[in-house]
Amino acid sequence: MAETKEMSREEGLKMYQAYVERIVSDLNACKKVGCYYIKEAGPGIYRIFNNGVHMDLIVGEERALLFDTGHGFGDLHEAVRAVTDLPLYVVNSHGHLDHACGNCWFEEEVYIHPKDMELCRQHNSPQGRKDGIGMAEESAGRFPGIETLPADFDAERYLQMGCGNLVPVEEGHVFDLGGRTLRVVELPGHTKGSIGLLCPEEKLLYVGDAINSGLWLFLEESEPLSVYRETLEKANGIDFERIVMAHDFEMRPKAVLQDYMDVARHLDFEKGFPFSSPFCKGEDVRQCMRPGQTMADFLSPGFASIVIGRKQLD
Ligand SMILES: [Zn+2]
Ligand SMILES: [Zn+2]
Repeated sequence: MAETKEMSREEGLKMYQAYVERIVSDLNACKKVGCYYIKEAGPGIYRIFNNGVHMDLIVGEERALLFDTGHGFGDLHEAVRAVTDLPLYVVNSHGHLDHACGNCWFEEEVYIHPKDMELCRQHNSPQGRKDGIGMAEESAGRFPGIETLPADFDAERYLQMGCGNLVPVEEGHVFDLGGRTLRVVELPGHTKGSIGLLCPEEKLLYVGDAINSGLWLFLEESEPLSVYRETLEKANGIDFERIVMAHDFEMRPKAVLQDYMDVARHLDFEKGFPFSSPFCKGEDVRQCMRPGQTMADFLSPGFASIVIGRKQLD
């Protein structure tokens, strides 16, 4: 038994190595503007990558929409304008620093759910931004040769940048881009004000961090597990084909929701693996996977986990 486990760990490492090499080669094939890597995922559908997270740019006939603004380490406006000159909507999936600290690069209003506005302000504060730089320094080298901070990065200036001109947006609001629409879907759990955008014309559901294979549900701003379960059920009831998650390099088929629902329904906190991060703040936090899975499976199809504290259990 022990030998089999050892083998699988080695295989896991090999798989991870191959994964990193593929990501680096894919990123190097992208159009690069400053520290941003821009990939066309379909006609008029772009994913902009920096430091582990994607921003999504959807271009219609009359307008374009940017879903999330990332860490904002470099001039994101310039990156967007390298793709389109159309008038722009800017929307935050939620208030976290890796999704909303680039708001300051835009004169446009930034749409965000009212329940995440205060969180967005906190994460855009000098302290929040300092944490973001710390995270970037920690993760630098995760994808060797890929730029995280731009060559001309000015940390002092970055710390003082604001959160943008925030305006509230809620369930059902429709952004009309001309030929393409994006409808706001509230997806609470990861944060209280997490939203997704449904593009019925492309059958895409953009979800930011609200749904994924390693969902963070242990934060002060997270909702209980029961709320996340309802969010998954709600998403499952929507008509779309592919789900677009901010930290995932691939667009996934809707069927992955079944895996995520499985772990949410059968979560066993006691069997979870201890999880540590500065965000845990001394709480007992565990990464709970589907039965039989470990972190070595995280690149395997069907992997699903929830990182949760005792407080979010019901
Ligand atoms: Zn988040
Ligand atoms: Zn995130």
